[in-house]
Amino acid sequence: MNREQHTPWCGRDHRCGLGEHRSPEIVIDIPGHARAVLVRVRTAAGREHAEVRVRVALAAGELAARRQLVGLLGDLREAVARAALTARPRPRRAGR
Ligand SMILES: [Zn+2]
Repeated sequence: MNREQHTPWCGRDHRCGLGEHRSPEIVIDIPGHARAVLVRVRTAAGREHAEVRVRVALAAGELAARRQLVGLLGDLREAVARAALTARPRPRRAGR
């Protein structure tokens, strides 16, 4: 990787290296409850990704915790599927 050619959004510090450009962390923080961290990444091959790490406080009770996990997984599936669809080229309509 040519370190002289960072992307405009690259953090340009220790995070950038090992074949990848990495943005500073974008953090969503709900103190005491949840935290999500997103990093934009460009690999040595030129492919770009959003890397997301999520940490959520679970309820003390096992049943409530499991309900939270089920809800979280459903929401994550929806978010990931929506983001993946947005990355695809739009289908062209016939006759327009
Ligand atoms: Zn860089």
